[in-house]
Amino acid sequence: MASTNATRMTATPLDVAVVGAGVAGLAVATLLDRAGHRVTVFERFDASRPVGSGLMLQPTGLAALERLGLKAEIERRGARIDRLHGLTDRGAIIFDLAYGDLDPSLHAVAVHRGALHAVLWDAFAGSRARLETGFAVATVDDGHGAAALSILDAAGRRSGPFDLVIDASGAQSRLRRHVASGRPKPYPYGAVWATVPDIGVAPAKLAQRYVAARIMLGYLPIGTLDGSGPPLTALFWSLKPAEHATWRSGFDNWQQQAARLWPELAPVMEALSGPDQFTLASYLHFTAERFHRGRLVLIGDAAHSTSPQLGQGANHGLLDAVALADALAATPDLTAALALYERARRRQIRFYQAASALMTPFFQSDSRLFAWARDRTFNRMKYLPYLRREMVRTLAGLKTGLLTAATADKIANPLGKLAAGDLDRALRQASDEAAAR
Ligand SMILES: Cc1cc2nc3c(=O)[nH]c(=O)nc-3n(C[C@H](O)[C@H](O)[C@H](O)COP(=O)(O)OP(=O)(O)OC[C@H]3O[C@@H](n4cnc5c(N)ncnc54)[C@H](O)[C@@H]3O)c2cc1C
Repeated sequence: MASTNATRMTATPLDVAVVGAGVAGLAVATLLDRAGHRVTVFERFDASRPVGSGLMLQPTGLAALERLGLKAEIERRGARIDRLHGLTDRGAIIFDLAYGDLDPSLHAVAVHRGALHAVLWDAFAGSRARLETGFAVATVDDGHGAAALSILDAAGRRSGPFDLVIDASGAQSRLRRHVASGRPKPYPYGAVWATVPDIGVAPAKLAQRYVAARIMLGYLPIGTLDGSGPPLTALFWSLKPAEHATWRSGFDNWQQQAARLWPELAPVMEALSGPDQFTLASYLHFTAERFHRGRLVLIGDAAHSTSPQLGQGANHGLLDAVALADALAATPDLTAALALYERARRRQIRFYQAASALMTPFFQSDSRLFAWARDRTFNRMKYLPYLRREMVRTLAGLKTGLLTAATADKIANPLGKLAAGDLDRALRQASDEAAAR
């Protein structure tokens, strides 16, 4: 029986192309290099770079970073988050959920995207994996028959052949159409995000203010970029991408509106230099009905993208990376390994994609009914111990299905904890499923 430890040298090194040097791409490239595969990462930009402001790493994402040996460095740079706290403009509590209600040792870490990227980048740079920048992969070609796959850009530039192509190119993936059907659906609301100094109004909290479901102002302390310097915060405001130009031209009025909604943030609002300090993010919902076909496999947002309402996307990208590396270490049969990876991840992904699609309209929509229902029910749910536990589990990334949950460690080691017999059974089932397709 082959080892399920992704960092063990593999008996059959593969030539692997990873498309995209983002969260999932850098993580999987590093793990596969450590396992002895020959890895090349293709990135469309000339320099690999992060976009946007901050994000939350849940206990599950932290456990995946532990597998990469990067958790301590992320904790050094980021800010510990113990609680999610949301109020309406009328002062009604919508959320007041603490990770510690489930387990005193549980917490999240919020980081600047640049900090997460830098930590993943340093690990990748210390590997033997190669990086090719300025290569926007447009398609794959199996001109070598079933035995290999090449990648091509729009001008026909080709690289390969590869035994395996991993699509980690994010929510706008151009390769996933070779694996899955369906089109990504845009959410009506996105958000503008800025990184500003942390003035300490929400220590260890993701704090939000709402007006119906139309307006959401958020404040997320994210620590520092490199572990030194003054602490930072990610500031965000719900916005329909179509209304971005109007928001920009009315920026002064918006500053006053936001300060009225959250008076403690007045100094932050006054110090803003202008709309250019913000980045617009729009959100797409897409769930691949399958994660692999032939020698092409999807991970991260390429396989499943959604709004960041539940704060899970980067965490799932990291979990996909460790699951795929583990599956490739578990068996030399590539088809079985890819089926095993999909099996390890699909239930949790389906649960969180459905939960995110369900929750988002309560916080980002024009629906008065959703806002009304939210204001009357969400905070009351916490008085029922079962529901409170389920809400914290969902937030912490610990749900593995509607009625199931697991520890962060188990979720980040989906194959590692299987006994040899269980692993054999899982491999057989995965192979049968793959053959049935
Ligand atoms: C505003 C906002 C807030 C968020 N907050 C959170 C949060 O709190 N917690 C959380 O876990 N997640 C959050 N997310 C989601 C999270 O950012 C994503 O889920 C995560 O970045 C996905 O990682 P990825 O590696 O799949 O894709 P990405 O990080 O998007 O990386 C994709 C990479 O592929 C490259 N690429 C794209 N196309 C090509 C191509 N054709 N050829 C070559 N390279 C290509 C890109 O340049 C990029 O480097 C948030 C997202 C947004 C937009």
